[in-house]
Amino acid sequence: MATIGFIGLGNMGGPMVANLVKAGHIVKAFDLSPVQVGKAIDDGAQGAQSAQEAATDVDFLVSMLPAGKHVESLLVTGEGALFDVVSPNTLVIDSSTIDAATAKRVAEVGASKGISFVDAPVSGGVGGAVAGTLAFMVGGTAEQFAKAQPILACMGKNIFHAGESGAGQIAKACNNMLLAIHMTGTCEALNMGLKNGLDPAVLSEIMKQSSGNNWTLQVYNPVPGVMDGVPSANDYQGGFQVDLMFKDLGLAMELSQQSASPTPMGSQARALFNLHKAKGNGGLDFSSVMRLYQE
Ligand code: NAD
Repeated sequence: MATIGFIGLGNMGGPMVANLVKAGHIVKAFDLSPVQVGKAIDDGAQGAQSAQEAATDVDFLVSMLPAGKHVESLLVTGEGALFDVVSPNTLVIDSSTIDAATAKRVAEVGASKGISFVDAPVSGGVGGAVAGTLAFMVGGTAEQFAKAQPILACMGKNIFHAGESGAGQIAKACNNMLLAIHMTGTCEALNMGLKNGLDPAVLSEIMKQSSGNNWTLQVYNPVPGVMDGVPSANDYQGGFQVDLMFKDLGLAMELSQQSASPTPMGSQARALFNLHKAKGNGGLDFSSVMRLYQE
């Protein structure tokens, strides 16, 4: 049993805390929103009055925050920065989706103060966070990974060591860029079939059994009526928001620029999601990009 500080109790962090508690760990939970702290207490966590309290005397400190600026401010640059509070025995795990450059910078500052920090972003969405089936992509040393692994396994099913510091964030950006390309490409093909009189369920089945097969066709069909239990069957509510996909594609484009990696398909997918978001669809599931093709 470990004592774990957890900061950021939103859509993802809340259920992740519940799973750590279920696994028998003591969790000291903090969020800027007292309502979120209250929910964590209902799930069996101890409520902390401040981030500093959550980070003191813990074996692990996990953060699940919106973006890189929040993580860097909390740990390094902000008032009461936690790298001045945590003990050198604490492993700091950031599971937020942030840019790899910030993750590496934060890890370097940590190392200079004798503090161990890994980036460990997740895939699997809110459903995966609730079910405890997230995929974690960890950037750090083999030793750090070995230490983080059993804790991450309480919240996820597949725990990968992606490589050195920042590698988790790089893997996450690559994966989500590919997902956006798959989704927009699948919508494009399905819409062309529909326009030419094909039944989308029949076309989906054909492509699933042929060389166009991909994850979106297998488990996340974007056309309403083809699949049950997916956002397209529920007016594109729930699931993975267009806003978050757009954020992740921004991170992928930053990475492509920094590394001079050509990403014409990724940048096209980002333009499509940008247009879709600009039409007021940021809060819908990302498979709603199908509507952009159907307008
Ligand atoms: P969210 O907005 O629901 O939760 C973020 C929480 O952080 C909020 O409760 C907010 O009050 C809190 N917070 C912000 N700054 C804080 C601070 N300085 N101290 C304490 N609390 C602070 O976001 P989410 O959906 O839980 O996503 C969290 C991260 O996970 C993001 O980086 C996101 O990109 C990533 N992610 C989300 C999903 C998803 O489907 N929602 C999937 C994969 C990855």
